[in-house]
Amino acid sequence: MSFNTDVKNELLELWQKKKCCKLSEMLGLLLFSTDFSEQKIGISTNSEKQADNYIRLSQKCMNISPQKAKKSRFYEVYYNKSDIPFVLNNFNSEIAYSIFRCDNCKNAFLLGAFLSGGIVSDPLKDYRLEIISKSEDIAILAYRILYDFELNPKMTIKNKKVCVYLKTSENIEDFLTHIGAVKSSLKMMNAKIIKDIKNNANRKTNFETANLKKSADSSAKHIKAIENIENSGKFSALPKDLQDIAKARKENLGMSLTEFGKLFGLSRSGIYHKLKKICDFAEKCNIKR
Ligand SMILES: [Zn+2]
Repeated sequence: MSFNTDVKNELLELWQKKKCCKLSEMLGLLLFSTDFSEQKIGISTNSEKQADNYIRLSQKCMNISPQKAKKSRFYEVYYNKSDIPFVLNNFNSEIAYSIFRCDNCKNAFLLGAFLSGGIVSDPLKDYRLEIISKSEDIAILAYRILYDFELNPKMTIKNKKVCVYLKTSENIEDFLTHIGAVKSSLKMMNAKIIKDIKNNANRKTNFETANLKKSADSSAKHIKAIENIENSGKFSALPKDLQDIAKARKENLGMSLTEFGKLFGLSRSGIYHKLKKICDFAEKCNIKR
């Protein structure tokens, strides 16, 4: 199941205790419905639980029941045409602030808005939570509340719809806590920790790769110097210990300097200086490396 579905299922278990909060949730559900106009009001959802919740709250708040129909994978819940004027008179974006009565009403409104028009990305992939409406006035209402909650909302146009969105894990966690999805908020925090650990592991791997490349580069440099000395016919002019090291280096290319040094009872810096002498000798021979 997707993270988005998990969040919605958690929200569908919640039940607003106060009447003002129930009305606020209903307002959010309605305004962000798939259709909210004089012609059509209702939602299309692939979750039967969500469809039933929409009907239950309509009955509770307005004493009217929208009709449920199943069309392929979707449940469509739409009001009868004769009920639409009543719904529009009692629930619209202009009267929102007269519906909000207590401290929790705006949370309940956002809960409804998210259930009808919201989607949240899997936090292991991306941090993004969107609430979408066909109407700019309605989108601005959600934007204002999110702004008041200091959740740093952004707004954009997407497929001719207005999209209000949040994009940091902290803001999305706070939003989920506001609307009552506490378990999902905790899951989000855990996902962030897992992601950070993975990123650190990747950084470590990059560091190791860089080290391997560095040692491969220096091996190549040594071989070039040794071959140039050999080609110039001056190999026998190298001190004996350096000759031995040069011969051994050609045969042990994959070794790190520490490992290679051990063959001669030398430390990493000890062997480094010997190899540097070989490179310097190649240069002194006036050989271009
Ligand atoms: Zn309330």
